[in-house]
Amino acid sequence: MSPTLRLTNTLTRRKEAFEPVDPANVRMYACGPTVYDLAHIGNARPVIVFDLLFRLLRHLYGADHVTYVRNITDVDDKINARAARDYPDLPLNDAIRRVTDATERQFHDDIRALGVLMPEDVNLPGHTPRFIEPRATEHIDEMRRLIDRLIGSGHAYVAESHVLFDVPSMPDYGSLSRRPLGEMEAGARVDVAPYKRSPLDFVLWKPSKPGEPSWPSPGDIEAPGRPGWHIECSAMSWKHLGPTFDIHAGGLDLIFPHHENEIAQSRCCFGTPVMANYWLHNGFLQVEGEKMSKSLGNFTTIQDVLKDWPGEVVRLNMLKTHYRQPIDWTVRGLEESERTLRGWSRYMEGHGEPGTLAIAVLAALLDDLNTPKMLSELHTAERQGDIAALVSSLRALGFRGASRQASSSVDDAAVRASIDLRLAARASKNWAESDRIRDELKAMGVQLKDNKDGTTTWEVARL
Ligand code: AMP
Ligand code: ZN
Repeated sequence: MSPTLRLTNTLTRRKEAFEPVDPANVRMYACGPTVYDLAHIGNARPVIVFDLLFRLLRHLYGADHVTYVRNITDVDDKINARAARDYPDLPLNDAIRRVTDATERQFHDDIRALGVLMPEDVNLPGHTPRFIEPRATEHIDEMRRLIDRLIGSGHAYVAESHVLFDVPSMPDYGSLSRRPLGEMEAGARVDVAPYKRSPLDFVLWKPSKPGEPSWPSPGDIEAPGRPGWHIECSAMSWKHLGPTFDIHAGGLDLIFPHHENEIAQSRCCFGTPVMANYWLHNGFLQVEGEKMSKSLGNFTTIQDVLKDWPGEVVRLNMLKTHYRQPIDWTVRGLEESERTLRGWSRYMEGHGEPGTLAIAVLAALLDDLNTPKMLSELHTAERQGDIAALVSSLRALGFRGASRQASSSVDDAAVRASIDLRLAARASKNWAESDRIRDELKAMGVQLKDNKDGTTTWEVARL
């Protein structure tokens, strides 16, 4: 008998024993990125956390018995706006394709560097694919079919070339987020529209403006249009996992309205009591104690972080906090993670792969992915000299021992000293010496930046 995995289920607000519908095919879905801009370090959190869950499920049920779907949202107003801004001379659809292709490629490069499994690592030729990354634009037919069914069963209606989901037609709408009706309505009133029967009704389909991407509409709407956001995930999860599956995951911000609306669509479409049996949500990431936002100037892309830190350090740092808790992303934390991994990497040299999880490490993960406990078990193994358990577990968790690259090979104090010498040279207008020092640092991979306020900062140029 396999050991029991326990997961905190947002649907029931309890930690529950995980029982898959079909142990021969455990099915999980995670909401993926909207590909309009570089992914930020907060977006890396669900990717890393649910990769760990995928690995754990594969360990428990067998690699050929777990299917993971993580979608790419490539139809969205923000994508259209970016495309029009960046490629004003191209037809909008071509511009959109450029934006989504380039952003998706970048996203893949970013997360590959974080050491997460990718479809090409998992899917074997001639076998059923086990890691699927569907694009929304490739599932418009499925969306239209769901919408037509919802209209047919009275859960959706057409108004002014839109299709709206009729929220009052679902008596237990709101059971995931458990928000009081009044609060949900107050939130929804921000988005008032004359064609809505109830303020909570949300868009399944909307008309496209000329030049915008458009597809034949569902219902009897003549004008072409495009899907709303929530219907995508109902369509893609249905196509690849069926009407009811095991785990649905995403960030905390998605509980309402996105996941609530996915549930409403899928359940009303198929007449099922649940869409997914377990709903998992990761907590939010903030940077140095502050909410990350462009206006605060602390917006940090995965690329920014990877300029300074090896991907495995980023991954380890993310796992130091339990996935449900908020995480404070700090340079101090990264330095500590780098030290830990540098120590562990020494043991990993010369060891082959793949590994297996030591019992204590597995026990920690089975308890709602308790990664802080998992890390303390790894430290214990090290302290007790059980290096085989440490190395084997690290390998099974996807660590390869690559803690030394970029920043770790540069000595901070030496760089600071050179910068001070260069500032002194500049103060005495010795430009030749100043340039010599800058070139010397550049040869070490250190890029200087002279700031307006007279200070000089530096970063390790990307390898
Ligand atoms: P988005 O592209 O904004 O839809 O986000 C993609 C995924 O990243 C979703 O699962 C979000 O919940 C998650 N996410 C966005 N911002 C953060 C953050 N600051 N911390 C943790 N997760 C986040
Ligand atoms: Zn979704």
